[in-house]
Amino acid sequence: MKRKQTEFLLASGRKVFDLDHRKKLNFALKQADAAYKKGKQQFSDLETTKKIAKNIKWQAIENLHTYLEAFETNFNRNGGRVIWAEDTQQALDAILNVCRKNEAKSIVKSKSIVTEEIHLNQFLTKHHIEILETDLGEYIQQLDGEAPYHIVAPSLHKSKEDVAQLFHEKLNVPPDLSPEELTLVARNILRKKYAAAEIGITGINFILADIGGIAITENEGNAWLSASAPKIHIAITGIEKILPSVHDLNLFWPLLATHGSGQRTTVYNSIYTGPKKQDETDGPEEMYVILLDNRRSHLLADPAARESLYCIRCGACLNVCPVYKNIGGHTYGTTYSGPIGAVISPYLNDAAEYQHLSFASSLCGACTEVCPVHINLHNLLLNNRRNAVEQNLISASEQIGWKIWKKINQHRLLMNWPGGATKTFLVGKLFRQHWGIRRILPEFTHKTFNQFTKNKPDSK
Ligand code: SF4
Repeated sequence: MKRKQTEFLLASGRKVFDLDHRKKLNFALKQADAAYKKGKQQFSDLETTKKIAKNIKWQAIENLHTYLEAFETNFNRNGGRVIWAEDTQQALDAILNVCRKNEAKSIVKSKSIVTEEIHLNQFLTKHHIEILETDLGEYIQQLDGEAPYHIVAPSLHKSKEDVAQLFHEKLNVPPDLSPEELTLVARNILRKKYAAAEIGITGINFILADIGGIAITENEGNAWLSASAPKIHIAITGIEKILPSVHDLNLFWPLLATHGSGQRTTVYNSIYTGPKKQDETDGPEEMYVILLDNRRSHLLADPAARESLYCIRCGACLNVCPVYKNIGGHTYGTTYSGPIGAVISPYLNDAAEYQHLSFASSLCGACTEVCPVHINLHNLLLNNRRNAVEQNLISASEQIGWKIWKKINQHRLLMNWPGGATKTFLVGKLFRQHWGIRRILPEFTHKTFNQFTKNKPDSK
């Protein structure tokens, strides 16, 4: 068994029996569910809306190169600069170059899952550049030295008491502050940092090809400040975030808000089309957009998996997934967790190390049902399982087990082989390790197949 798979199984076993974790996760996900149910009432016909959204993303991804090049041309015309990054290292080098050119020592950053993917914070810290998370959830996680737990709600697994205790330990404030007081503590610290930072880094929710702009949606105003207070703005995203036109936001902004946080629209919705112009007083003097591939082209190249690039990172599939609900976000050991993480992680990383995630699913289809762009997630999980089998990535014992199973089922004589205890023992030996030690495996009857089926009322 591969290292990541072993770690995943061990961590899952621990988490499902951690009652405190379960209580906090259930509480947070129940709230998310209630908000989503209320928020989706704004759509008179949600299913049709999703189909339209999927069609727009289909058009965007099928013509990805055309739209990305259009974005580059238009953004450059606006005075910005596009940087193409094939992989993590190129993206990190590009950011470091901008920092060095401007002798930057301090950076403020708003929520960006792509910067988690490339481990930007660790990289810049190693180069003695301070980088501070400004999204409150991300700030909490950074204080705690933990990766985000959820792609939309980074500290979803922490109660308000946990956060109060963390602030007490790390920031030396009283241990019993209310959420409002904790927010004010963070606010006072962050405000000073915005004023001092030379560079602001943000993620991007949508790349807008026709106007050469980027759209960022948020609730705290921290992305807005990160993008406009420092004199340099670097925005980074995966190439799949493309939309053909700014007009598509009419559909995608409310869809993302409702599926991400149950809102009709998020509080701050901004479009940036480049650095400030000569006659403008606000905004950065330089603006860069980094377009990251990082093996997304592997997804693009596979027609069966391509539609996973339609994802708008709303996090809804995580919230409804029975596996995520039990094991939580960190257990996956990936930047992207939940159903979408299980689908794309084998493509974005070494498939052999991450294929097991596609087996951690009941295939109930709740993820597919909730997805705002109708990504066929549970079919894509099956697709990954097929790839794993075809590429010989599943354990040798399970492969042997299925070969024996097939052989037996092809020969009536072998099906009539008696010995229930031996069969039960063999199935346990061959499958238990891969299927998990807590799974109750079937017990075989001592009867032969003929004897067993003969007395069945529905056997012919
Ligand atoms: S796959 Fe769908 S539901 Fe899951 S995060 Fe992406 S857009 Fe949201």
